[in-house]
Amino acid sequence: MSVKVCKFGGTSMADGNVINSVKKIIESDKERKYIVVSAPGKRYSGDIKVTDLLYNCHSELLKEGTCKNSFAAVRARFVSIVKELVINFDIGSILDETQKEIDDKKSEDFTASRGEYLCARIVAEVLNAKFVDAKDVMFFKENGSLDGEKTYRAISFAVGSEEMAVLPGFYGKGFNGEVKTFSRGGSDISGAIVARAVNASVYENWTDVSGFLACDPRIVDSPKAIRNISYKELRELSYMGANVLHSDSIFPVRKANIPIRIKNTFLPEDEGTLILPSSRYVHGGNVVTGVSGKKNFTVIFIEKSHMNSEVGFISKVLAVLAEEGISVEHIPSGIDTMSLVIESCQLPETTLSRVLEEINTSVQPDIIRVIENIALIATVGHGMSSSVGTSARLFNAIAAANINIKMIDQGSSELNIIVGVKNDDYEKCIRAIYGEFFR
Ligand code: ASP
Repeated sequence: MSVKVCKFGGTSMADGNVINSVKKIIESDKERKYIVVSAPGKRYSGDIKVTDLLYNCHSELLKEGTCKNSFAAVRARFVSIVKELVINFDIGSILDETQKEIDDKKSEDFTASRGEYLCARIVAEVLNAKFVDAKDVMFFKENGSLDGEKTYRAISFAVGSEEMAVLPGFYGKGFNGEVKTFSRGGSDISGAIVARAVNASVYENWTDVSGFLACDPRIVDSPKAIRNISYKELRELSYMGANVLHSDSIFPVRKANIPIRIKNTFLPEDEGTLILPSSRYVHGGNVVTGVSGKKNFTVIFIEKSHMNSEVGFISKVLAVLAEEGISVEHIPSGIDTMSLVIESCQLPETTLSRVLEEINTSVQPDIIRVIENIALIATVGHGMSSSVGTSARLFNAIAAANINIKMIDQGSSELNIIVGVKNDDYEKCIRAIYGEFFR
């Protein structure tokens, strides 16, 4: 029988009533056997996510030696969830024990992980399912990356014979034997790892939206929903800011060709978005699948006559950045010019002047110039490679909106065209591109 792994995000765990809806969703499909949960999220705007409450506990612990005051808010959230669920579950003792462990261990990761831990314990009780602690089955290597083989084996061994199992997302066991978390939003990654471990037919990621939209709804009013998208397209879009799903959660399932379906806990009948391997993906006729972007990049522009024939020029420039631990997003180049596009947060003033000086010494360029406050906008779609005139349409639309393009980069897969514009033109540019391809 094929199995589905379902990950429920923070808003799907926010209170007892929503958890009851989640129970109905799970019970409506026998294949939904392995459940990964986040910590309870916001119940209303202005509410505080449990994970954030836990980070407050850690701050208090560092200052006062105990998390007593801040933990009261965490306790209140879980006590009220259990009350709303009307289950016979001694959450009080588990909370007492957790508070003591937080005080004793003094570890930020351990503290932050307790939202998922407590939530999974409750959901396992509600579903009458086996609770499997992520710290016993998710392992990190010494360098902080996932120990995939060990993890997949441990998960499939732990859940394989269970009718149903619930696992907390967001953490596992670090190389030193202590709890270690993924980056924020990391329960998405945990869900993908479980899906891979049990070779799920699909990884369902339940959130509070009905899938991906073709662009940011804060910029364009009611943009179109994306029904089908490939992993590659999604990686491009989510890297550039479309953040329904943690961008790292694609890797484990992509390797095993497991599709991801984004679903809405509050509108479970909605189809959502299906994310497929490129080989199985058929685009819905639209040339462009989505448009997204990010502000605040810095471009270092370098010019030198005969750059093209100077062996090792580019590698010398890149060595300067590597030495400083700076990663480069894009390197558009001409015969005698190259630009380095870098996230501005990596280049505080002192670092920037050091980098410029080192590049000057290393390659003696004729001109070196810095352009700040640049936004990058990615227009993404497999359809672009096979349709003549896409870039003409894109650049005409941007020109018609009277926006000056500072940089252009097209990925060699023809999956995306990235343009750099001034931060101030960001929203206008997205609207122009969306208007051209979707209206
Ligand atoms: N609870 C964690 C966070 O708030 C992880 C997650 O929600 O995926 O980042």
